[in-house]
This record gives sequence, structure tokens and C-alpha cells, in this order.
Amino acid sequence: MTKAILVLNAGSSSLKFSLFEYEAASDLHLMTKGQVEGIGTAPHFVAKDHHNQILADQPLPESNQSIGHSEGLHAIATLLRDQYPDLKLLGVGHRVVHGGAHYAAPLRLTPGTIGALEGLTPLAPLHQPHNLAAIRAVAEARPDLPQVACFDTAFHRSQEQINQLFGLPYNCYERGIRRYGFHGLSYEYVSSVLKQQEPEVAAGKVVIAHLGNGASMCAVQNSKSVASSMGFTALDGLMMGTRTGNLDAGVVLYLLQQEQLSVQQVEELLYKRSGLLGLSGISSDMRVLLDSHEPQAALAVDYFVHRISRELGSLAASMNGLDALVFTAGIGENSAIIRQRVCEQAQWLGIEIDPHANAANEFCISAIDSPTTVWLIPSNEELMIARHTRTQLGL
Ligand code: ADP
Repeated sequence: MTKAILVLNAGSSSLKFSLFEYEAASDLHLMTKGQVEGIGTAPHFVAKDHHNQILADQPLPESNQSIGHSEGLHAIATLLRDQYPDLKLLGVGHRVVHGGAHYAAPLRLTPGTIGALEGLTPLAPLHQPHNLAAIRAVAEARPDLPQVACFDTAFHRSQEQINQLFGLPYNCYERGIRRYGFHGLSYEYVSSVLKQQEPEVAAGKVVIAHLGNGASMCAVQNSKSVASSMGFTALDGLMMGTRTGNLDAGVVLYLLQQEQLSVQQVEELLYKRSGLLGLSGISSDMRVLLDSHEPQAALAVDYFVHRISRELGSLAASMNGLDALVFTAGIGENSAIIRQRVCEQAQWLGIEIDPHANAANEFCISAIDSPTTVWLIPSNEELMIARHTRTQLGL
């Protein structure tokens, strides 16, 4: 019998899954991962095993055009049954975007705690309902299976109040309008790898740059979050693939009052039509922009690097110094040129990159005598969720 933990990450139009084999004496290891994409439009199911062999790559049947998370889950369950007839699922871990001000750790789900997470939906209306839909779909299909919620915000609850405040009337803070921070599972995983491999570095003042389609940065000291570039929502901080990042709130008022945009139009502009896509007018994909000769593509890349440089200075200030910088996520892990440009603009913080180590995507990419070290650590949020689920289940 193969024992395993299933990890689910449900978005508005996708349901991603990873299956990790559990053995009592060893770390979890990945068996299969994949996703149902195009939920609500043209659902398509893809899955690969841990050797990257394709197990499924097919549109889901026409009759399932109205597919939701339940039907997506059904497709995943059918594949797992076919591939691993002796599989015993021990539990399901979910990525849940918002744990509010209260949840600073993963949470074993019960009807009561699911209700409490529903209450946090206004804080993340674009994500939380989809996370909860997947949780409910599992509860319906397999009420016997324990489920655990792992929050993107939980890692940041170690931050002091000063880093969670806005300059709004204090009762706004009391009403929950505060900086929550996101990408916490990625920061937690990357911090754990740094601690395991370089404990002295991890004990110091570290900034982790999670540069993916969604992008943020976090100041981490002793593997605890000190401050984050993301705030109340995942819009703040760095410019992203299609999101603005840091923006004067007055711009929103101007768009509403002077340009008469509707709330939905503003939301769409800030989340879906800005960022690398909006500035370049070409693409939200960093690879496309780096390959392009269009001046607008170069401008978007310049601004992306510029925002990282400014946030780096701000986060270093929040720790009164900087010992190490870590790059992670799609752009951070794969783009030597972006890492090089960020490091060149951070020489004032004692950063000197080793161009050869950087080009080779090595673990340590700073020059041997660089006062501040620079590291490259691939993120693995799914493994972090699986580990949390294992711990919560007492395995
Ligand atoms: P998310 O998980 O937030 O959707 P990812 O972490 O997968 O995003 O990162 C996606 C981003 O990584 C895209 O902008 C993509 O262009 C970029 N990326 C991936 N590989 C490279 C590369 N070799 N060079 C530059 N950018 C890359």
C-alpha cells in the first residue's frame, strides 16, 4: 500500500494538485503533480509523474464545460485511482490565501473552522471562495479525509505591529485593515532550506525576493518574517505580471471620480491589465519582454528592476541592515539577467555578484568577498503544505 498526502491549490480557473508519498522514516517525496486548467471555459487536465512523464494531457469532456472544482477534483481522483490502485490517502493540504489576523499557523479543518475561513472572504474575494470551494468538494466526496488549511498570510504574523500598520485612523487597523503579507508558504520553505544549508546566514538579516508572475519581497530574520512588500491585498509592493504593485491611493480616486470608471473596471485595471503587461503593452511574461527589442518592453523590465531595488532598500531599513539576499520563483530562479541587474543596483548594500555562478544558476551567486551574500533557492510551496499537513495529522 502506498500512503500519500494530496496538496490542492485552487484558483478561479484552475485546480492544481501534487501528490506526496509518505513514509514514516523519511521526508515526503513527490509522486505526481498536475492541474485542471480552464475551469469555467475550456477545461483541460494535465498531469505528470516525478520523472516528468506525462500521465494525462486531455480536454475534459464536452459535457463538463460547466466544470467546477468538484468535477476537477473528480478528474484528479480518477487519475490517481487508475495510476495507483493501492493508494491510501492520509489527508489533504490546501493552500488558502487568507488566514486573517488570527491564524499564524496551519489549521486542521472542521465545519466550524471552515465557517471561520468563510468569514475572511471579504479580505480576499478573488481567491478565498475558490480555496473554500475545493475544501468543500473534498469534504463532500471524502468526508473521512482529514483536511488542513495552510495560509499564505500565516508566516507574516510574526511581524511587529509597526510593520502591519497603515497611516489610517487606528480603528481601521482594529477592523482588520492592515498589512497581512502574502507568499508566506514560499518564504517559509525558502527560509527552511537556507536554515538547513547555511544556518549562520539564516540567523542574520535576509531579504527573500519571490519574483514570479505574482511578486513580492520579505525581510526575514532568524527565519521569521519582519516585513513584507505586500500589504492588505496581493496588489501592493513590487510591480507584477499584470498587477500594479505600489500605487498612490489617490490614483484610484481619480479613476473613479474624474474618469468615471466603475469599481469593476478599476479592479480589472489594477489586477489584470497593469504590471509588465500594462507598461509594455506586449506581455506579462518576462521571457517575452527580455527577448523583445521594443522600447516599451525594455521600459517595463527597467521599472520591474527599479521597484525591486527600492523595496530592497526599504526592507533592509526595516531590519537595520542586510546580510543576505535570496532569489526565488519563476523569474528569480531562472533569469540571470534580472538577478544581475538587481544586484548591480544594490552595490550600496554590499552586494557583489559572481557573474559565472549567476549565469550557471548556482546556489551561492555572490562574489567570494561580497560583504552581503546572494543565494538562489527554488521555491516549493506544495512541499511546505504537505509537510504542514503531515505535522497537523501527527504523522
Ligand atoms: P506564478 O507561480 O506566480 O504564476 P512563476 O513563479 O511560475 O509564477 O513565474 C512566472 C514568471 O517567471 C513568468 O513571468 C515567466 O516569464 C518567468 N520566467 C520563467 N522562466 C524564465 C526565464 N528563463 N527567464 C526569465 N523569466 C522567466
